Amino acid sequence: MRRHRAASRKTAESLPPGSTGGTPPVIELDGVGRSYPGGVRALIDANLTIGAGELLAVVGPSGSGKSTMLQLMGTLDRPTEGVVRLLGHDVARLKDRQLSGVRANWIGFVFQQFFLTEHFTAVDNVANGLYYHGIPVRERRERAADALARVGLGGRLDHVPRELSGGERQRVAIARALVARPALVLADEPTGALDSRSGATVMRLLHELHEDGTTIVVITHDPGIARSLPRRVEILDGRIHTDSGVSGALPVGVHG
Ligand code: ADP
Ligand code: MG
Repeated sequence: MRRHRAASRKTAESLPPGSTGGTPPVIELDGVGRSYPGGVRALIDANLTIGAGELLAVVGPSGSGKSTMLQLMGTLDRPTEGVVRLLGHDVARLKDRQLSGVRANWIGFVFQQFFLTEHFTAVDNVANGLYYHGIPVRERRERAADALARVGLGGRLDHVPRELSGGERQRVAIARALVARPALVLADEPTGALDSRSGATVMRLLHELHEDGTTIVVITHDPGIARSLPRRVEILDGRIHTDSGVSGALPVGVHG
């Protein structure tokens, strides 16, 4: 979202076929590492496969590498070791404009700090999620209004972020993440800045999206939230420490 450029108008349809046969996992991390200049090894030899329709929590202490892993899954960053595959595509082999297409069409992002544009109304913040899809502005606004209705904000279309509560702002951000109907939603501490009631509303929305077939990865500090999700991956000191494994994932192929 932060790297939108005109070239991302190119859609994901222009990607070459994935390298694996059948329906590939949504995300595969294969020996993935990320070192930052200065020698910080934020992620070390991460191996993880996330299938279509999963809902997964990533937990671990502050600084353990959770956001680093999510940024790599979202193609916002590149690994220094190993291979990241999205729907069978080796991310390192994609051209910049294909990566932009992947981010615009396949992935919805939700962040703790919302990242809404302050002087845009709710409907325009959400319509912005379709900016690189080549859709006329009127249709973008219509689809944005539908997405806002879906998160219970049909009555707040013309409010700017400062006129909304924290929970409402995060619901706008979720509407922006889902307006392009992505296969994958990546949420980094989506309830971290919210009171518990607003946080519960946000989690209910993510569960609804999951029930519709969207694959969802949620970073959370909240043990209660983590326990409520079908799969939990724990990171410690840059390494995947435990993985509860898949339980409750929809059969592969449910998501269109
Ligand atoms: P978490 O999300 O679990 O709190 P992060 O993935 O943000 O952890 O960070 C993991 C480690 O990598 C931390 O030690 C952090 O200081 C370091 N780190 C994160 N981003 C950068 C960066 N851009 N440059 C250097 N070090 C970074
Ligand atoms: Mg983090």
